[in-house]
Amino acid sequence: MRLSQYFLPILKENPREAEIVSHRLMLRAGMIRQQGQGSFTWLPLGKRVLDKVNRIIREEQDRAGAHEILMPTIQSAELWRESGRYDDYGKEMLRIKDRQNRDLLYGPTNEEMVTEIFRSYVKSYKDLPLNLYHIQWKFRDEVRPRFGVMRSREFLMKDAYSFDIDYEASKAAYNRMFVSYLRTFTRVGMKAIPMRADTGPIGGDLSHEFIILAETGESQVFCDKAYLDLTVPGADTDFRDDAAMAEIVQRWTTPYAATEEMHDEGAWNAVGDGDKLAARGIEVGHIFHFGEKYSKPMGAKVQGPDGKEHFVSMGSYGIGPSRLVAGIIEASHDENGIIWPDAVAPFDVGLINMKSGDAACDAACDRLHAELGASGRDVLYDDTDSRAGGKFATADLIGLPWQVIVGPRGVAANEAEIKNRKTGERRTVSLDAVVRELGATA
Ligand code: ATP
Ligand code: MG
Repeated sequence: MRLSQYFLPILKENPREAEIVSHRLMLRAGMIRQQGQGSFTWLPLGKRVLDKVNRIIREEQDRAGAHEILMPTIQSAELWRESGRYDDYGKEMLRIKDRQNRDLLYGPTNEEMVTEIFRSYVKSYKDLPLNLYHIQWKFRDEVRPRFGVMRSREFLMKDAYSFDIDYEASKAAYNRMFVSYLRTFTRVGMKAIPMRADTGPIGGDLSHEFIILAETGESQVFCDKAYLDLTVPGADTDFRDDAAMAEIVQRWTTPYAATEEMHDEGAWNAVGDGDKLAARGIEVGHIFHFGEKYSKPMGAKVQGPDGKEHFVSMGSYGIGPSRLVAGIIEASHDENGIIWPDAVAPFDVGLINMKSGDAACDAACDRLHAELGASGRDVLYDDTDSRAGGKFATADLIGLPWQVIVGPRGVAANEAEIKNRKTGERRTVSLDAVVRELGATA
């Protein structure tokens, strides 16, 4: 992609409304544009990151056996009256009337709708387990929308819903999602710690929030440092092996980790002093088992092996991809800008022509642009007529993992410079070796 033909509205000044670094950097790097209170457009650079995050989420949901669907954003109030939540949900729900004066709402979550789908089709235990998910916009009229896409009113959510014949089976479904989340957050380059979370009026111990540690996080969290060294299950993990799943969950829930609401001073005191980590965190995912809370009032039941009808046991599993993008920036930046983990970087390489218009520089860059593209790299080629200093600043700001810098002196010697954004390390290599060098280091 040639920058001269791209849409990358970089801001020179620090936007005054941005209180935290991810919000500031997302605005400055031309990733998002605020449209109203808590509502944002994703501009091309931001959209590329969001798509990469979503793709990883999808791959890991599918690997764990979930199936993607896409439910509407606008829902009928009738469904929510069936579960009793239409009145309970409160002011966070945006309520709408259509021209026939029917009550509608913009979905803040989809338990009711997915339960309606389930009960319409599934009648036998033989069709279980079932897990359906979608990635769809949600609206919650938050009391305090703030921090950009971190806490917005309209935001993207991946929400999955599991249906099982009984508690044991639904616990296995919960474990699969737990493991899937460990893999998902690791693949986007993050260390997310599963922490015991409040299950509210339903009770039980099956609720975990996945938390990224960051100073600007809105949650106070307490955990054992042991989490920082636990290894995440690999791609060859067998999600159909219930015992293996349970073992992984066991390992990842044994050291102490809790959000403030669930904090237990007694258990905390048992953690060694050198192992205590009290920090701020960002909730990027939340998994929750709630049993028959919706299946019972909404009549979602299947015939069991005993010939009797059973209300299905359910759970729901959320990730906020839009919040996650901001969370990644909170955890990975420096004073010059964003530092994207490879897997979610909007482009792999920023190719910088220090002297656009210079025939030799242009020719060398055209060639590298083509060769890097052919080798499977996403390249953003800065072919604009800005000064070199401005190009370097932009490249650092938007945080692509690699920069390839081409200037007149280098070209005369048949060389380019390669810079690693994260370490700052620079190397001079021959023009012929650029593609090979990046292949070897990435
Ligand atoms: P919070 O406690 O931060 O308000 P929540 O517990 O209400 O979030 P869930 O219902 O668990 O959120 O939603 C699942 C996920 O959706 C969250 O883990 C988070 O990543 C994301 N999310 C929730 N609310 C927002 C929001 N206002 N803006 C962006 N992402 C959000
Ligand atoms: Mg939550």
